[in-house]
Amino acid sequence: MNTSEPSTERPPAGPPAPAFRGMPSVHELIECAELAECRTRIPRGEIVSAARTVLSEYRRQVAGDSATIGGGHLPPVPNRDEFARQVIERLRRTERPRLRRVINASGVILHTGLGRAPLAQAAIDSLAEIGRNYASVELDLDSGERGKRTHIVRELLCKLTGAESATIVNNNAAATLIVLAATATGRSVLVSRGELIEIGGSFRLPEIMEVSGSRLREVGTTNKTRISDYSNAIDDSVAALMKVHTSNFKVVGFTESVTIPDLVRLGRERGLPVIDDIGSGALVDFSQFGFSDEPVASASIAAGADLVLFSGDKLVGGPQAGIIVGRREWIDRIEKHPLMRAFRVDKLTLAALQATLRIYRDPARALEIIPILAMIREPISELRERASRFATACQTLTGVAEAILADDTTYLGGGSLPTQGISTVTVRIRATGQSETEFGRRLRLGDPAVVARVQDGVVIFDLRTVFPGQLGELVAAIQSALL
Ligand SMILES: *Cc1c(COP(=O)(O)O)cnc(C)c1O
Repeated sequence: MNTSEPSTERPPAGPPAPAFRGMPSVHELIECAELAECRTRIPRGEIVSAARTVLSEYRRQVAGDSATIGGGHLPPVPNRDEFARQVIERLRRTERPRLRRVINASGVILHTGLGRAPLAQAAIDSLAEIGRNYASVELDLDSGERGKRTHIVRELLCKLTGAESATIVNNNAAATLIVLAATATGRSVLVSRGELIEIGGSFRLPEIMEVSGSRLREVGTTNKTRISDYSNAIDDSVAALMKVHTSNFKVVGFTESVTIPDLVRLGRERGLPVIDDIGSGALVDFSQFGFSDEPVASASIAAGADLVLFSGDKLVGGPQAGIIVGRREWIDRIEKHPLMRAFRVDKLTLAALQATLRIYRDPARALEIIPILAMIREPISELRERASRFATACQTLTGVAEAILADDTTYLGGGSLPTQGISTVTVRIRATGQSETEFGRRLRLGDPAVVARVQDGVVIFDLRTVFPGQLGELVAAIQSALL
């Protein structure tokens, strides 16, 4: 088509050319002084793309405006500085990494969406040192011979749990899978009907069993399972007895379940290993903090369980890992299984886990310096004092209608019991001229990102999960979200 020919149709709706006169070109924009700082750290392609988007968004907006209000009344074209400001703002949003640090004001201590346990300083230092350097991952420095990477934490785990041997994989789901595959492929495992759990939407015990090649044999009923239910179900196809901690739910009323000592007695009698998936895996007794239902790894080993499995990033307060402790013959068999290679941990997991476990050699020290344990132990009086200072600071901010203290509950989270909480004091902030949803959204998009509870017209901040050193930053983040 010859474009110079006068068209008989109306020209497409849009402003006359002068509406765009004075707009900077992409080149002028990306080379301008305002973007000098961006040019030093952001790849040029990203800046070009942001500038193109800003200019074309402006053109589209003007086209829309002129269609409704007429070309003659359009506002003047913004100057280059204004376009540059928009490019910087756009880069600020699009250039940010997807994985960013978050201030957790949700009050959920082990928030899977926020990466579960924040690490202790010693673990962070070790991550940096081992990450930066080569390390003795599979080299035994004594003999100069090849070593096993899992042996790095084996001795520590044995000391801390009283087990004969230990190994690790990437998470507790992997631990469950490899334990079942190594002990019961092609055979059956007895599990109580009341313990067929789903955790976090993707860990479903029956599905893990199916993938492992073992057969699930359910015994008992949802609320009551007796030792006779297990013993009556044992036949030649049964390879193991398994107990699973019902981490995130509780059956109340007329209930009965079988204890590890009972299962161990039966297992010994019939020559079957007892597997105990304790889930959260405390290395210290949590009943001292008021949590009566959190199994301690050493207690399960002492009761005679052959294999005990738990997560590294739940109540241990370390990196994501699946920890398996128990009898040497079973651990050896697990370490020889081909899945071990697929579930192999890297040097960073080993570094952070080793450093975390070393802290537990002095349990009193662990209570002080493992972040999640310190959070759980913070006395309500201190928390109230912190919350009160925080509320006072927030009351003076622009855009805050009210900031009031309220007694509330902190949950362990991360697949632990929702009925077990710790008392806490929260600050409930109502914004002027902004819904709680919008306020919550702006907090998430801020720098640093803040995650708090959004409900009933307010945003609720639980300081139990906010580090004392983050308080000033949190107040500043709230102010930016409200401006
Ligand atoms: C959390 C949990 C798991 C899954 O552990 P991940 O480390 O998240 O893979 C398995 N079993 C129990 C009982 C749990 O509580």
